[in-house]
Amino acid sequence: MASVQLDHVSKRFGAVAAVQDVTLDIADQEFLVLLGPSGCGKTTTLRMVAGLEELTEGRIQIGDRDVSHLPPKDRDIAMVFQNYALYPHMTVYENMAFGLKLHRTPKAEIDRRVKEAAAILGLEGLLTRRPKELSGGQRQRVALGRAIVREPKAFLMDEPLSNLDAKLRTQTRVELKRLHQRLGATIIYVTHDQTEAMTLGTRIVVMKDGVVQQVDTPEGIYHRPANVFVATFVGTPAMNIVDATIERHQGQLAAVIDGQKLLLSGPLAAALESWGRPTVRLGIRPEDISVGVPSDPPGPSVDAVVRLVEPMGHENLVYTDVGSANVVVRTGNDWTGGVGDRVTLYWNPQRIHAFDPESERSLLFS
Ligand code: ATP
Repeated sequence: MASVQLDHVSKRFGAVAAVQDVTLDIADQEFLVLLGPSGCGKTTTLRMVAGLEELTEGRIQIGDRDVSHLPPKDRDIAMVFQNYALYPHMTVYENMAFGLKLHRTPKAEIDRRVKEAAAILGLEGLLTRRPKELSGGQRQRVALGRAIVREPKAFLMDEPLSNLDAKLRTQTRVELKRLHQRLGATIIYVTHDQTEAMTLGTRIVVMKDGVVQQVDTPEGIYHRPANVFVATFVGTPAMNIVDATIERHQGQLAAVIDGQKLLLSGPLAAALESWGRPTVRLGIRPEDISVGVPSDPPGPSVDAVVRLVEPMGHENLVYTDVGSANVVVRTGNDWTGGVGDRVTLYWNPQRIHAFDPESERSLLFS
């Protein structure tokens, strides 16, 4: 396996700046996920690494080779796409062996690699079947097998699970994670699914409009988002974002949300103090607020009215209004309140985020 480097890589399609100045250092054996909404440039980035798309600017290195202008076949990478496009008239074995045959790999070596990949993927019993005799998940595993037998320097995967139903998707996701551990492979993986990104990635690259917003571990993306976009793209329901003005109240800083004062302390108060502007955009995740019961450590609080309760089985989502601001709270499934209740929302003081209302950049983590 090998490391992969993108150095100031850009791609323009006429007037469309699909990928803008992307620099990434992907370590050997890393599982790097490119995450973002449709059209953010993640597929184009992957296709440039694959050699399927010319770079407009920049350079790409795989291992210690500059591959920027090499055709795909000379880059020593294997690709897995959502459309697994197996050859319908070939058996599973033949599908996996086909690429190696084209490369004139000796028969015994092909046999060894196909059997090894089949064992890793649990396909041993299916080698003589044709694609139409397989389930969607099995077909996707054959597509993975076809990539594994190549023993490439890196795997490039573009939404490989998106054609599977929800249950199979979860199962295959787990298999993919095990596979990564077992192969010690370098994987670059494109998805718009935050759960896949959070569970699979050793690091996640969040993209928007062709621009990298943040590169971090899943934990870092979730707990230390660099801007409002990252904060609200990852997490379901999304992080609450509310506009507030900043005032001083009996010597302490307070964020005023529609007339209600939320007293601030710690690093957040210090950051706002040194920032020194009159307004801020505050963020807090639904699980970092408690309803009615003071958080531990006791945090600042505001009053709210319950607008809607969604019982999810394992938890409740409680949608509230704090004045004109909407704030959703995640509670245990034993929470018994209802619509119209007046409640107090306690904010975990260590989990409150603050963003510049203009640039939307985090005042704490950028
Ligand atoms: P999706 O999840 O929908 O595949 P994506 O994040 O992978 O989206 P890209 O496919 O990389 O996004 O596209 C990035 C931008 O480049 C989009 O605005 C898209 O319309 C544009 N684009 C992609 N390919 C081409 C092309 N061949 N010609 C012109 N514009 C293109």
